[in-house]
Amino acid sequence: MRLSRYFLPTLREDPKEAEIVSHRLMLRAGLIRQQSAGIYAWLPIGHRVLTKISAIVREEQNRSGAIELLMPTIQSAELWRESGRYDAYGKEMLRITDRHEREMLYGPTNEEMITDIFRSYVRSYKDLPLNLYHIQWKFRDEIRPRFGTMRSREFLMKDAYSFDIDQAGARHSYNKMFVAYLRTFARLGLKAIPMRADTGPIGGDLSHEFIILASTGESEVFCHRDFLDFPIPSADTDFDDVAGLQAIVDKWTSLYAATSEKHDEAAFAAIPDDRKVSARGIEVGHIFYFGTKYSLPMKATVTGPDGKEHPVHMGSYGIGPSRLVAAIIEASHDDAGIIWPDPIAPFDVSLINIKVGDTATDEACARLYHALTTRGIDVLYDDRDERPGAKFATADLVGMPWQILVGPKSLADGKVELKRRATGERQLLSIEDAVARIA
Ligand code: ATP
Ligand code: MG
Ligand code: MG
Ligand code: MG
Repeated sequence: MRLSRYFLPTLREDPKEAEIVSHRLMLRAGLIRQQSAGIYAWLPIGHRVLTKISAIVREEQNRSGAIELLMPTIQSAELWRESGRYDAYGKEMLRITDRHEREMLYGPTNEEMITDIFRSYVRSYKDLPLNLYHIQWKFRDEIRPRFGTMRSREFLMKDAYSFDIDQAGARHSYNKMFVAYLRTFARLGLKAIPMRADTGPIGGDLSHEFIILASTGESEVFCHRDFLDFPIPSADTDFDDVAGLQAIVDKWTSLYAATSEKHDEAAFAAIPDDRKVSARGIEVGHIFYFGTKYSLPMKATVTGPDGKEHPVHMGSYGIGPSRLVAAIIEASHDDAGIIWPDPIAPFDVSLINIKVGDTATDEACARLYHALTTRGIDVLYDDRDERPGAKFATADLVGMPWQILVGPKSLADGKVELKRRATGERQLLSIEDAVARIA
């Protein structure tokens, strides 16, 4: 992509409304634009990151055996009356009336709708277990939307819903999501710690929040430091191995980790002082087992091996890709701008032509652009007629993992400069070597 033909509206000044660094950088680097309080447009590079995060979330959901579908954003109040949550949910729910005076709502979550879909088709325990998920926009009329897409009113959520014949089956389904979440966050370059958590308005009794430590996080958390170095389950983990998955979950819950709602002072005091972490954290994912909370009132039952009707045991599992964009920036930036982890960078390379109009630099950039893109590498080519300083600043701000600087001086020696954004390390290399280094 040529920057001269792209849409990358960066800001020179720090926006006043942004209180935390990720919000500031998302506005300055042209990832998002606020359209109403807590409602954002995703500009091209922001959209690219969101799409890449969603793709990783999707791959790991699929790997665990979950099945993707897509439910609508607008729901009927009827379903929520069946579960009893229509009145209970309160002001966070955006309620809408259509032209026929029917009560609708913009979904804040989808337990009711998925339970309705399930009960319409599934009749027998033989069709279980089942885990259905979608990646869809949600709306919650947050009392204090803030920190950009960290706590917005409209936000993207991956929400999965599992159905099992009994509690033991549901436990296995829960463990699958637990392991999928460990893999997902690790692939996004994050150290997320599963912490015992409150179940909140969704209800139930087994729940973990996946938390990233960050000084700007809104949760107060307590945990054992060793979690930060625990090994991540490998890609060939057998999700059908009940005992194997339980062993992974047991290990990842063997040490103390809890949010303030579930904090146990005595248990925390037992951790050696140099291993104690008392910090702030960002909730990036949350998994629940809630049994028959929805299946009972909504009559989602299946025939069991005994020939009788049983309400299904359910769990729900959320990840917030739009919050993750901000969380990743909180974890990965410096004074000059964003430092994208390779797997989710909007482009892999910023290619900077230091002297546009110079035949040698123009030709070298064209060669590099061609060689990289034909190898499947995404290049943002800064071909604008701008001062070099401004181009370097833009490249650092938008944070692609690699920069290639092409100027007449080094090119006279047949070299271009390759810079790694994360470390600032620079190397003078031939065009071929620079391409080989990245590809
Ligand atoms: P919080 O405690 O931050 O309000 P929550 O517990 O209400 O979040 P869940 O119902 O557990 O959120 O939703 C699952 C995931 O959706 C969260 O872990 C988070 O990643 C994301 N999420 C929830 N609310 C928001 C929001 N207002 N903006 C962005 N992402 C959100
Ligand atoms: Mg909330
Ligand atoms: Mg929460
Ligand atoms: Mg939660």
